[in-house]
Amino acid sequence: STFSALGVPAALVDVLSKSGIETPFPIQEATLPTTLAGGDVLGRGQTGSGKTLAFSLPLVARLSERPQRRKARFPRALIMAPTRELATQIAKTVDPLAAASGLRTTVIYGGVAQSRQEKAMNEGVDIVIACPGRLDDLIKQKIVDLSQLEISVLDEADHMADMGFLPVVRRIMDRMPTGIQHMLFSATLDNGVDKVVKRYLSSPTIHSV
Ligand code: AMP
Repeated sequence: STFSALGVPAALVDVLSKSGIETPFPIQEATLPTTLAGGDVLGRGQTGSGKTLAFSLPLVARLSERPQRRKARFPRALIMAPTRELATQIAKTVDPLAAASGLRTTVIYGGVAQSRQEKAMNEGVDIVIACPGRLDDLIKQKIVDLSQLEISVLDEADHMADMGFLPVVRRIMDRMPTGIQHMLFSATLDNGVDKVVKRYLSSPTIHSV
């Protein structure tokens, strides 16, 4: 199949072509029809499976389908990742897709000054890519408000669990509106990931590599 045949908008197919990406990987082929339609997905794919594009393409496509004025503090989509390295890597995939669609992104993680992250949120960001600890801090300070979120992605949920982040992740997810689109990626369902899946995902399409 092709990305176009699966329903990916032409502007995003062009961005992929420029990086030599023409043929969908299995996880993308299996989940894009569901996710582009707003459905939930549980992806069991590991790094290297192509999971980043599997969630980034529908996320950007769905936000740009229904354009909205950017609002300070209120992102439309959130991608959570366990480490700063992974968050940075995800941003490298999302940023060109977002730029081609007129959407603004920012990355939020701890260990650095908060001021730039705060400034970005005050100016308005459509897509936040964040590690849970710092995001939780910014939510408590009312710098980030998830009450108007439309799409949530939890990447490497098994690693979040290993690092003891699941209670914070659940607290963050409890701030999201109910009924929004959830995409969750995890190699295993151990250590409480299964409970997160049960609580937040609604009839997800399950893809195991
Ligand atoms: P990920 O599993 O998301 O970390 O992706 C692993 C690598 O595969 C990244 O370097 C992607 O750019 C690349 N990739 C993802 N999807 C495709 C595809 N359909 N065709 C070629 N490369 C891809």
